[in-house]
Amino acid sequence: MRFIYHQPVPNFYNIDNPRNPDNHISDELLDEFRDIAIASQFAGISYSKLSEEFKREWNIDWDNIIILKYFMSDDILRMEPSKEKCILEDAEFQEFGQKTFALADILRENGFRADLLNPLDDRVSLRAIAMQSNDAIITGSNMCMFKEGLNLGLFMIETSIENLPFKSENEMLWVKDYCSTCGVCIDRCPENAFDVDGKFIRKACTAHREGCSQCILFCPFYKRGYDKVKKRYERMVKK
Ligand code: SF4
Ligand code: SF4
Repeated sequence: MRFIYHQPVPNFYNIDNPRNPDNHISDELLDEFRDIAIASQFAGISYSKLSEEFKREWNIDWDNIIILKYFMSDDILRMEPSKEKCILEDAEFQEFGQKTFALADILRENGFRADLLNPLDDRVSLRAIAMQSNDAIITGSNMCMFKEGLNLGLFMIETSIENLPFKSENEMLWVKDYCSTCGVCIDRCPENAFDVDGKFIRKACTAHREGCSQCILFCPFYKRGYDKVKKRYERMVKK
């Protein structure tokens, strides 16, 4: 069972799904959609095509996913764990949830089915869907990291669009090896939320109950960014 720490985002659709949704988007429209998302302060977009095996495993019958990523604010992340911090994190979540509804409406308006996946629904793991994008990796601190950063919140839209630019290979697999040499998040965790083998202990982690962000704040990926850590890793493995 996942922790339920955010409040549900109220339904903000203004447009119904089309009766006979299209399944092919032009490059121009997809570019325009991406530009609107970035102008709405999303950090980036990824796409997941869910495999038949994945759909069977989670008992779902849809497979085209648009992942909208937003940066969790540095100012909030740096706050000490507190109820106030959790409230601010939720306010940020609500704001981007509302923006995701507006983006889904744009797709509906253009003839596509677009439904927001409920981020609080436990029937399917959004992290598992994120990993199907081949654009993310689970770090040693159990965060779902994309290249844009470690401090990302996610919203997802399920859509009829079949020709999204899905990736077939994950270029981030090296991160697992890097994390095995680092371990800073384990050393810095105030709650000892890792076992002796470095495995994350979910119930000990207070991120979602109290707003702990220590493992993000001390992580090289947060402090230096993905590209710099990758360069350092490449130098390391050459030695
Ligand atoms: S602190 Fe180190 S081990 Fe932990 S997630 Fe970041 S890079 Fe990986
Ligand atoms: S969020 Fe805090 S408690 Fe949870 S693993 Fe990271 S450092 Fe530990």
